[in-house]
Amino acid sequence: MKFDIAIIGGGLAGLTCGIRLAEQGKRCAIISAGQSALHFSSGSLDFLSYMPDGSVVKNPLDALEDLAKQSPEHPYSRLGADCVSQMAQQAERLLINCGLSFTGNVAQNHMRMTPLGTQRATWLSPTEVPTSTIGEALPWKRIAIIGIEGFLDFQPQLAAGSLEGKGIEAITDYLHVPALDRLRNNPSEFRATNISRVLDLAENTELLADELVRLAQDVDAVILPACIGLDNPDAVSLLCRRVGKPVMLVPTLPPSLLGIRMHQALRSRFRQLGGQFMPGDAVLRADLDGDKVKKIYTRNHTDIPVTAEQVVLASGSFFSNGLVADFDRTYEPIFGLDMMTESQRADWTKESMFASQPYLRFGVKTDNQLRAMIDGKSISNLFAIGAVLGGYDPLQQGCGAGVSLVSAQYVAEQILAMSEVTA
Ligand SMILES: Cc1cc2nc3c(=O)[nH]c(=O)nc-3n(C[C@H](O)[C@H](O)[C@H](O)COP(=O)(O)OP(=O)(O)OC[C@H]3O[C@@H](n4cnc5c(N)ncnc54)[C@H](O)[C@@H]3O)c2cc1C
Repeated sequence: MKFDIAIIGGGLAGLTCGIRLAEQGKRCAIISAGQSALHFSSGSLDFLSYMPDGSVVKNPLDALEDLAKQSPEHPYSRLGADCVSQMAQQAERLLINCGLSFTGNVAQNHMRMTPLGTQRATWLSPTEVPTSTIGEALPWKRIAIIGIEGFLDFQPQLAAGSLEGKGIEAITDYLHVPALDRLRNNPSEFRATNISRVLDLAENTELLADELVRLAQDVDAVILPACIGLDNPDAVSLLCRRVGKPVMLVPTLPPSLLGIRMHQALRSRFRQLGGQFMPGDAVLRADLDGDKVKKIYTRNHTDIPVTAEQVVLASGSFFSNGLVADFDRTYEPIFGLDMMTESQRADWTKESMFASQPYLRFGVKTDNQLRAMIDGKSISNLFAIGAVLGGYDPLQQGCGAGVSLVSAQYVAEQILAMSEVTA
């Protein structure tokens, strides 16, 4: 199987890199072993929410210079502020072209509401998510927070308690939609995505609207757990029209409907552009010849290797098995790439659970073009993007999606520029 570019990993980084390349006419394959971090995410995309010193970032682009001083190994610091700014704006356009709609832009972070009713700084939030300007409260005085009877992955009282502390009057109640009764009988199946498959049916969305009209009589807005709109993107706007006031969604515990919906939109855009998505397959090993990757071997196509001019590693961090931790070492399992890591296990973690954990900054080492390295030498046709990269802490700094999107766009541009030179 021969492609212009083979991408290993079909999460946010791999898909957006593949989309950019396919938009420019490249023949791309994405080999993706399983679910990505998007399936577990809030659905909001963080660019840089907090500095390494813990201060909140209001204007991410203005913070890049200071980030370079505090964290020179951060992928943003290595690419440089101008490049990062350009790639972030290119990523915003790419997401819109995939049919996704967001609140926010890279010049200014906003606050999004979490399932606990607290606020967290972020870059882009799905338009249905309640957001506010940093330093300001949500734009409503009286809110109905509506849970779903028997659904354990969102507790309206917890969210209401936090909002009341900020001067918002929050009433709580539960939805009674008989169509959900059969699903409710099996608690392990009573999850956001399965609930959405029932509520998204036109006749049930109508029943849900009737129920919300009853529950939301004297409030300014309604907040629901994100259990609607997976397959029917118009379901939430229909509810807003029927209820006559904003109906908003907050993320639930995984599986995350907002993240899965984004994954589906990206995957279908990649396929529409002619990209080949190979789900459920995993790259096991590769043949290298000198400084070049020659062949990639996958679990499902043992005897037919994938060959490509350029290879992009977007296999994620420990969470997605892009990196592996044994008892006494961490490593990148496909190529055995150079890693940013700590050799002593005791240095992988800090005792305080709330401290920035060193292992979160582990990842593959690259040169300044994001080419991966073995024994200190760059591999000329192997780039690394997204969560597999080392040098940053996506949790403490709130920059996971930003690094994935910026590095993906940067590498796509590098590859396009190289192919122009050789054409
Ligand atoms: C649980 C969780 C929640 C998060 N929530 C947020 C959030 O709300 N907002 C935010 O901004 N960031 C969040 N992040 C940070 C997240 O890392 C990034 O936002 C981003 O989604 C990572 O994308 P990625 O494509 O680099 O990696 P991943 O999403 O991890 O995707 C890697 C993909 O590669 C595949 N893969 C791995 N090995 C192989 C192989 N050998 N062959 C083929 N395929 C392979 C995996 O199956 C997976 O599909 C979260 C991270 C985690 C772990």
